[in-house]
Amino acid sequence: MAKITSHGNTVISPLVQTLNYTVENFPHQCRFPHNEHFFVQGGFQLNGMEGCIRFYPRGYSTDDENWLTLYMGLESKIDVEIYINLEVNIITLIENHEVIVLFQQFQLLFTPGFMWNAVKVVPTKAVLKRMLLPDGGFKVRFVLRTHTHNIDRRLSTPIESTRNKIKELLLQDPAQQRFDVAFVIDGRLFFAHKRILVYSFAFRAIMSDWSDYGEPIIQLPYVRPQVFEDLVIDCYVKSNRFCKKCFSVRKSKDSICCEIISWRR
Ligand SMILES: [Zn+2]
Repeated sequence: MAKITSHGNTVISPLVQTLNYTVENFPHQCRFPHNEHFFVQGGFQLNGMEGCIRFYPRGYSTDDENWLTLYMGLESKIDVEIYINLEVNIITLIENHEVIVLFQQFQLLFTPGFMWNAVKVVPTKAVLKRMLLPDGGFKVRFVLRTHTHNIDRRLSTPIESTRNKIKELLLQDPAQQRFDVAFVIDGRLFFAHKRILVYSFAFRAIMSDWSDYGEPIIQLPYVRPQVFEDLVIDCYVKSNRFCKKCFSVRKSKDSICCEIISWRR
């Protein structure tokens, strides 16, 4: 069942997909050292986009060596922004009954032109010890709750200096800028204005998910800082609540800031 959450007047209803994979003879896959990047691959479809899921039995990079790492890639032909809430279940058999031995949730953000992500799921040792089927197979189920939103590319090629100025603004004193939302991404703290971020469907979905927890700081441990920062800056560039002349947040989309002052002179 699709979980329907609402933020303001907008109802966000994700696409829910369940994918099942069984990797045969998993211990054999684990014999390859991590730096040989041996993987197991499966495909799936997402809103007309071709996706692939890979398992790296002993990690994808030096950061996740000896971890079962999940890599997800999407081949996008359209301009889309994607937020995925990914649930990973590892399933085994106990006395002929299927039992979920691991349940993990990840939030992933995909921006156009940067369509992959990798997450550490569980140490390889733990999988080998207690998460395999009796025949050595590895069974995993993914539940993907996907929010997809098309983006108008004509609006997304701003001048580099505008992007840099916004980047600087986002690093300023939170009290002075009256930021009202904070995120922790890979240990780094990011501040922003909610009324600007609602421009993005992905952020609307994230903030709506988090409003249920009542936590003041939103933690997205599986989102890469670069992807996150690009998306935040995109919101400031495109939102009509942010003035690209005086670089200030407007109270409403019709309120006036710098323009009226110069006009009166
Ligand atoms: Zn202005």
